This record gives sequence, structure tokens and C-alpha cells, in this order.
Amino acid sequence: MWSDASVTSRIAVVGAGPSGLYAADALANAGVHVDVLDRLPVPFGLVRYGVAPDHFSIRSVRDTLAHVLERAEVRLLAGVEVGDVDAGADVSVAELLAAYDGVILTYGASRDRHLDVPGEELPGSVAATDLVSWYCGHPDADSAGIEAALAAARSVVVVGVGNVSVDVTRVLTASMERLERTDMPQHVLDALSRSRITDVHVLGRRGPAQATWTTKELKELAELDGVDVLIDPTDLELEPVSAALVESDRVVARNVEVIRSWADHALDTTHRHIHLHFHARPVELHGTDHVESVLVERTTVDDAGAAHGTGETYELPAQLVVRSVGYRGVGLAGVPFDARRNVIPNTDGRVTDESGAVVAGLYVAGWIKRGPTGIIGTNKKDAAATVVSVLADLESATVTTGEGCLELLESRGCTVITHGGWTAIDAAERSLGASRGRDRTTIHDRDALVEASRT
Ligand code: NAP
Repeated sequence: MWSDASVTSRIAVVGAGPSGLYAADALANAGVHVDVLDRLPVPFGLVRYGVAPDHFSIRSVRDTLAHVLERAEVRLLAGVEVGDVDAGADVSVAELLAAYDGVILTYGASRDRHLDVPGEELPGSVAATDLVSWYCGHPDADSAGIEAALAAARSVVVVGVGNVSVDVTRVLTASMERLERTDMPQHVLDALSRSRITDVHVLGRRGPAQATWTTKELKELAELDGVDVLIDPTDLELEPVSAALVESDRVVARNVEVIRSWADHALDTTHRHIHLHFHARPVELHGTDHVESVLVERTTVDDAGAAHGTGETYELPAQLVVRSVGYRGVGLAGVPFDARRNVIPNTDGRVTDESGAVVAGLYVAGWIKRGPTGIIGTNKKDAAATVVSVLADLESATVTTGEGCLELLESRGCTVITHGGWTAIDAAERSLGASRGRDRTTIHDRDALVEASRT
């Protein structure tokens, strides 16, 4: 809440995820007051709805971010959609620019990318973003679709070898003992406890040297109880470009070493199996009214590191196909957008238009600034860099004396959830968890979240 009336500058941050809250913290450190807006009724963005629930230490970043919301200079305005008011949004970027001394867009890159192969739209073929949303309890998750696909699944294909692919593979194969310690919604735990998945095939379209997962996350796969990681040794052969990468990059060398150490794993039929396939790209999903298998083409990696099909194919059974091929950002009404890179164009965090000119008062930070890369901590540096630009501009700007956009939102009948509402939701989730012997159970239903915010 605002501490006193001696307000000098007032900034709106759009997005209450890690980038937005790190930006708010840096602004508050400089004595600037901040309204943090989020479309969802709750804060924390990808920390709540992207980081895997069984990654307890990464999720604990939430405690740090929660302290930002307790700061006197920072006000949470959740449940507020920024965009085209004529299309149903609560407030536009132009209105925010008029009500604040600056607006920082940190709304992330939450959409999925496509494989563009035949059969991709069959039921049972889902985006990792949707599966992750479901198991994290995102209010917009397609629970019915995901649970129907999960119920049919024995064999799963996960496309992509990044950290999201590892998360998805781990959650689909982990023991209930591990998952029950998380804050996953109860219906998610119930669905996963009924799962009859025996095999998960993970496909890397290039070699093990080009996988983008981090070693710590990769190693966790082999540490799961009752799960064997299997790899065909021929998939580990390195082309000259990959061998050079192993020589020059310590992370790559460690990853390849870990994967090599799994090459002699024997198959235990009583266990679940994670099969790593490299030089393997999906070319078609087969099935009539539901996906049944994936046609995979073997590839080679050229000297520039690009994958090329060899024409040699094989088929993997799959009643669930998860494409984990990266996130992408989308544009926001009234804001310049680089549709090729799926980011908001900017110079040092200052949004620029088509001509390269700076849009006065408009800034960007996080994934929508640089693309979906890096770990949570990367966003702290990124947000701080944008705040340096904001503060430099504020020094030479005329500041407003307005009260931000809350009054406007209330006049439009928008249900705004402030910090008090969030603490009530927080208490309700802890209490729901305690009733089932857990620390917390995520409330996934939007109306239930709004209701909880009022208690
Ligand atoms: P990512 O690291 O970019 O991985 C995407 C994967 O999809 C790559 O293996 C890529 O292969 C593959 N791919 C892309 N297009 C493909 C296609 N058409 N067909 C087949 N494969 C394709 O993205 P991500 O896993 O979504 O992760 C996003 C960011 O979040 C990363 O920075 C990640 O580190 C971070 N994250 C971190 C954690 C953690 O720290 N624990 C957890 C989750 C996410 P190519 O390389 O060949 O393009």
C-alpha cells in the first residue's frame, strides 16, 4: 500500500511474474511507487504456473517475490486485463500511459510453439505449456482435454530436449510419494495417480551435445524412484561439430557424460521407462480420432549445427504426444511487436516503434523483451537493466500526481484483487492443503480464487 502522500513518481508494471516483481523491487529501492497489474487473480506468473511443483527450491523464489508485494511502495492490482478495452480488456496501454509516469510490460511469453507436422491437431497431441498449466493449476488450463489424453496414455512421446521437456517427463513418471509433497491441485494428483503410463520417449532432433537442458535437471531423471532412463548407444555418436562442442563447452561435456553413463542401463520391466532418442525428429502423428503413434525420422547434424533428415524412419507408439519446443510471446494492442522474433522491440528496455524511435514512457522486461530464455534469476538482471532506463528518463520527466488506474478500473466494475485479497487466497490454499496433510493445495478455479480473496 502507499505509505504517504509524498508521491513523486508512479509506474505501472504489467505482469506480476518474476520480471515484473523484480522491476517493482528495483523501482521501490529508488523510492518510486509502483502498481503491479496482472490478468490473473494471483501474482507470481511463471513461478506459480511454470516452475514444476516438485522443484521446491526454485518455487521458493515465491517467498522472495512475496516480500516485494509487502513493500510500502508496491501495490498489487490483480485480476486486471490490460489490452483492447473494446475487446473486453479492463484498461488499455494508452490509458496506463496517461495515468502513470511510465509503464513496464513484463507479461512474458506464455504461448506454445507448433511442430507443423501432419496429425499435430489430433486429440492426445498437446503443448507442454498446456500440460504444465494443468499440473500447476492455472485457471485457464484445459483440464478435461489433458485428463482425457492422460487417461488413454500408456506410451508418451515428448518432443524437445530443453528444461521444460525434463519437467514434463519427470512429472509424468514420478512416484505419487514425490508428487503428493507438492502443491498441485487435488484433481491433478488424482489424475496422475490413475495414470497407466509405462514409457516416455523423449525426442531430440539434434544430438545430445545440442540439448538445451541443464545438467542438474537432466540428472534428476535417473534419480526418480522406480524409473529407468534408457538410451541406445548409437544415438550417442558425435558428429565433428558435436565433438567440438563437447571440447569447448563444459556444460555440454557434462551433459553428454551424464547421458553416456546411462547407456548401459538394463530394462527392468517392473519400472517406468524414459527412453532418450537423439537425431530423431517427428515427421507425422498417426491416428484416426486420437493420436496412436509418431513417425520419427533419423537426422544428422551438419557443420553449422543444423539437423537434416536422412529419410530413415521408425514409429513410436504414443497415446499422448507433448510438444515441448519452446514458448513464444504475443503482441499487445497498441504496442509495437516484432512478429519474427515474438518480442517487443526495444533499446535498453525502452520500447521502440517500426522506425526505431522510442515510445515515450513505455518499457519492457523479461521474456517479452528478450525471448523465452534463461532461468528465473536471469530476469532479475534483465528487469534491473530496464529500471536503469526508467529512472534515467524519470529524472528529466514531468511527473504526474494522479492515483494510477485503480479509480478507472473500479468505475468500470473490474474486480481488482489487491495484496489483502492475495493474502486471503494464500491463507485459503494453506488451509486447504492442511486439511489433506499437505503444506498447500493450489486453488485452480478462477471463481474460487476470487471468492477466497474476499474472505
Ligand atoms: P528450449 O530450451 O528452447 O528447448 C526447446 C527444445 O525444443 C529444444 O530441444 C529444441 O531443439 C526443440 N525444438 C524446437 N523446435 C522443434 C521442432 N520443430 N521439432 C523438434 N524439436 C524442436 O525451451 P524450453 O524447454 O521450453 O525452456 C524455456 C526456457 O525456460 C529455457 O531457458 C529453460 O532453461 C527455462 N526453464 C528452466 C527450468 C529450470 O531451470 N529448472 C525449467 C523449465 C524451463 P533445437 O535446439 O534443435 O532447436
